[in-house]
Amino acid sequence: MSDEPLEIVIPMDLRFKWSAGPHLGHFLRELREGNIVANRCPECGRLQLPPTPVCGRCHVAMGTDWVPLSTKGTVISYSFVVDPMYDAGIGDMRPVPYTIAAIVLDGGPDVAFFHRLEEKDPEKVRVGMRVEAVFRPPGKRQGLMEDIIHFRTID
Ligand SMILES: [Zn+2]
Repeated sequence: MSDEPLEIVIPMDLRFKWSAGPHLGHFLRELREGNIVANRCPECGRLQLPPTPVCGRCHVAMGTDWVPLSTKGTVISYSFVVDPMYDAGIGDMRPVPYTIAAIVLDGGPDVAFFHRLEEKDPEKVRVGMRVEAVFRPPGKRQGLMEDIIHFRTID
């Protein structure tokens, strides 16, 4: 009797769809139109971006107080990604290198929005740099975070 380990290979190609829900769904519909919106907590007034059904700070149900934010903002932190990793947003490995940043959008001072920067040169990326969202053309948007291609430098 052999101790050779046996394995069973089961190829799987599973695709899932699920409801984004009323809060994230509203956000994604607005994104498809080229707008970025947050929702405001009725208790503490804090903005949530992307919107959530419950406030992360005081745990009350979020209402439908939608706050339009600018598509321009300021980088408050960033990272350079050099190791490839799976990205569920595109369903594949995201090509490297790329720069991911926390961006405070104008009109939403208490919440950071995380997305990729167009700029990949470490010598040119800095905290405080001004950036603007670059959306896919209107007919190409699907109501996904990927409707924003990246944020480009504007100063
Ligand atoms: Zn709250």
